[in-house]
Amino acid sequence: MAHVQRMSTTLLKTLRDDPADAETASHKLLVRAGYVRRTSAGVFTWLPLGKKVLDNVARVVREEMDAIGGQEVLLPALLPREPYETSGRWDEYGELLFRLKDRKGADHLLGPTHEEVFTLTVKDQCASYKDLPVILYQIQTKYRDEARPRSGVLRGREFQMKDSYSFDVTDEGLAESYRLHRAAYTRILDRLGLDYRVVSAVSGAMGGSASEEFLAPAAAGEDTFVDCPRCDYAANTEAVTAVVAPADPSGHGPVEELDTPDTPTIETLARHLGVPASATLKNLLVKVDGEITAVSVPGDREVDLGKLAGHLAPAAVELVTAEDFADRPGLVRGYVGPQGLDLPCIADPRIAPGTSWITGANRPGRHARNVVCGRDFTVGRHLDVVVVEPGDPCPRCGAGLAVGRAVEVGHIFQLGRKYADAFGLDVLGPQGRPVRVTMGSYGIGVSRLVAALAEQTHDDAGLCWPREAAPADVHIVAAGKAPQTELALETAEKLGAAGVRVLVDDRTGVSPGVKFTDAELIGVPTILIVGRGATKGRVELKDRRTGSREELPLEQAVARLT
Ligand code: ATP
Ligand code: MG
Ligand code: MG
Ligand code: MG
Repeated sequence: MAHVQRMSTTLLKTLRDDPADAETASHKLLVRAGYVRRTSAGVFTWLPLGKKVLDNVARVVREEMDAIGGQEVLLPALLPREPYETSGRWDEYGELLFRLKDRKGADHLLGPTHEEVFTLTVKDQCASYKDLPVILYQIQTKYRDEARPRSGVLRGREFQMKDSYSFDVTDEGLAESYRLHRAAYTRILDRLGLDYRVVSAVSGAMGGSASEEFLAPAAAGEDTFVDCPRCDYAANTEAVTAVVAPADPSGHGPVEELDTPDTPTIETLARHLGVPASATLKNLLVKVDGEITAVSVPGDREVDLGKLAGHLAPAAVELVTAEDFADRPGLVRGYVGPQGLDLPCIADPRIAPGTSWITGANRPGRHARNVVCGRDFTVGRHLDVVVVEPGDPCPRCGAGLAVGRAVEVGHIFQLGRKYADAFGLDVLGPQGRPVRVTMGSYGIGVSRLVAALAEQTHDDAGLCWPREAAPADVHIVAAGKAPQTELALETAEKLGAAGVRVLVDDRTGVSPGVKFTDAELIGVPTILIVGRGATKGRVELKDRRTGSREELPLEQAVARLT
């Protein structure tokens, strides 16, 4: 009975109520349906059903990585400090990094991502250009001490990632390795049945140039992206810097004082700023007690209003208006992207290098300085006052942009020679001279994908897995007494022998009603009910997603499922 899992003997306890600490649907449902349990903040135990789904996602990832010639390896999660010192990331990572000491006092870390050690591995193993290109990957536990691990396995402090690294001798080679990964990621997410967009991204702590993200639209997502309905422009708002000042200062109505005793709520703040509560902001310029001030959250690249609200001391906060900049021309609405050049803002002479400008201070509540563009910051990097709203013009074609929330499930980078330079990674070239290697790095969140799928596919009754991810193909419910249970087990065995993955609810002393509720909650794609009609050889097939039911003879049901 290799493919048959009996609920009577499975470690599985479903819950009627949402866990108190859960905010997102996937978190609530994965706990309630018995897939995961919280061990500590952002750290989870995968129970039998959850482990099956996690393994299914990992299997699809593995198959598609193998298909592009990736070689699976496993590097340690416990890493020495030195390589991260060499790359500068021991310090750059700040509080995100889990650091620890061994008994001799030597510093170690728990790997948040592995560029350094993969670079060293290839330096050790590859001597000649003939050894390249090579794609290495691992599926491994990663550690990041996230500031807000609040969405279950969507944002863990311990999580599973597939990370791969490509090593090439030429730029064309790197472009090809990147293209292969992009195609593999597309196939992985298609097979898993995820709804996703590929968007331009900024490369963050990795460094490097070309970078794209795979975003799964979902309300629980912590990323905001813009999507053009007319051309193929789509970008994470992290990569789109919109410089905003209201075109019509009077359009924002009277500015009230924020005199709440506590920190302002999202709604209060949104109203004061004249932006939707869903807006994503970076280094927002506001007036606090009449002074123009930049508000930002240290260490965070993206600030949603919720976070911002928590960081603002109760004070008189007003939206800056164009009038505030009457003697400082330059605050215009436009986009400054990572490539920058084709975007309207850059071409605007008012913010050409050398222009006086107001930019953000790095700490909340610090007053803005008058700085010089090109000297103190580069447009598009630090000048990041962002409010992107639906209908804002697409920087490429001008059509009204759609704005949505999404979960970042994958991220691919062309790193170039950043790590090869840091570690002196050369191979002997065809002319017998050393050639510096160029790299790509590619991550996909295996455990996060489980949550992203749950976010996108659940309904009011529970989880609703796409087939490749589902813990089983068929959930057989024995709804009755001994004859039903016997027939259910017999059917399970028959299906199992034919290679169908079966979860069979053979529990005794559990009412049919409870079993039906559990089946909906657990979310296997097809439910086979062996109930009263079973004595006459009739069963019911139910499609979990559509809810459509059909009564039919047992043999016919079995034939259809095999
Ligand atoms: P985020 O913006 O959500 O913090 P990231 O940009 O820091 O993610 P990357 O460094 O690009 O993440 O890592 C590659 C992939 O690893 C991400 O696309 C995501 O799928 C996954 N991942 C990153 N952080 C977490 C986490 N805390 N929990 C679960 N998965 C994660
Ligand atoms: Mg992160
Ligand atoms: Mg990100
Ligand atoms: Mg990323």
